[in-house]
Amino acid sequence: MMHPNDPELRSFVDVEPDGDFPIQNLPYGVFSTGSAPQKRVGVAIGSLVLDLAVLEQEGMINLGTSEAVFAQPSLNAFMALGPEIWSATRKRISTLLRHDQPELRDNAKLRQRALLPLDQVVTHLPLAVAGFTDFYSSKEHATNVGVMFRGKDNALQPNWLHMPIGYNGRASTVVVSGTPVRRPRGQVKPPGADAPSFGPCKRLDFELEMGVVVGQPSTMGKMLTEVEAEAMIFGFVLLNDWSARDIQQWEYVPLGPFQAKAFATSISPWIVTREALEPFRTKGPAQSPEPLEYLRQTGDNNYDLRLDVDLQAGDGRAARICSTNFKYMYWSSVQQLVHHASSGCAMSVGDLLGSGTISGPEKHQRGSLLEISWGGSEPIALPGGDTRTFLEDGDTLSIRGWCRNDRYRLGFGEVAGRILPPD
Ligand code: CA
Repeated sequence: MMHPNDPELRSFVDVEPDGDFPIQNLPYGVFSTGSAPQKRVGVAIGSLVLDLAVLEQEGMINLGTSEAVFAQPSLNAFMALGPEIWSATRKRISTLLRHDQPELRDNAKLRQRALLPLDQVVTHLPLAVAGFTDFYSSKEHATNVGVMFRGKDNALQPNWLHMPIGYNGRASTVVVSGTPVRRPRGQVKPPGADAPSFGPCKRLDFELEMGVVVGQPSTMGKMLTEVEAEAMIFGFVLLNDWSARDIQQWEYVPLGPFQAKAFATSISPWIVTREALEPFRTKGPAQSPEPLEYLRQTGDNNYDLRLDVDLQAGDGRAARICSTNFKYMYWSSVQQLVHHASSGCAMSVGDLLGSGTISGPEKHQRGSLLEISWGGSEPIALPGGDTRTFLEDGDTLSIRGWCRNDRYRLGFGEVAGRILPPD
């Protein structure tokens, strides 16, 4: 049997050469249609969605469960079945979609029911988010923010090089791409002001991140090894951790961000599996000093994953404001998960871990407006003469990500959101 990542594989479904969803990808999402509004699980292939609920009902995918796993409004039930089932299911879907396999290809009636145009479905949040944790693992981002908030002598806190710094965020406000984001209100105290005030955020920002979807639980009181943590990772999504910088600056001492990041986090609708990303592993930055033993890793632990950010003003004109790569992250996703469970903290099916803002060493690789406009002091030019330091009402921020080797391209689609005026 050919491995689902084999570059030789072709599908009977057409895939544009530069499309996000070749047969080697097979990302999972949750969708519905106007004529069939119940949410169910599907896989994106080319410009179509394969309805897994239909295939499961027809007995073409058998997971050995008494309850339907794919006729569900989230991927949590499927994820709970574990990595062996994830792998076997991906193989089965890959086989069903191959150009040289007749089972689905030659069943016109089933094809019509099970393959739907992507542009005619509504995508939903693909998982029931159990918990959301956000890390701070790009050295370039942490240094840039540190310089602006505390000066360059105290940019990187003394603990930063020894562990992945993070905080427990809000699962309740994680939303799928396309959901508008209302400008938050909050308490601020601008530099020079005598007293704090409460009102609409004036420094609304995005943060370019990847999200790790945890598909398996861990036991309270038990640490995780590198191997155990890796096996728990179901897949990855694009993530925008919307941030209110003026609220953040006033509230973040001593316990870190609270309301500044609690109002919305957007993710892309398609979860690209860890297995599909295997061919794109690459080395991360050298870690010095060497991490403590429980955090040590060998091998290639990062991913060569290109990331682009576009800002579209209300009038429709867009500018590329950042191009960077996930490979720059100092702490890997596995190290983040190992550290998260190191106190005995139990992880749950459906936990979402934000990587932290992904900036790179170059100026065009900065993953937030805070860094791009250097705290608002260097406005960026948009087409048509408009400028921006932070997001304005009516702006749309979109992030795209993809991997490419010399054989195929594998993409994440996008995560986009438009800013609405305050309530
Ligand atoms: Ca963040």
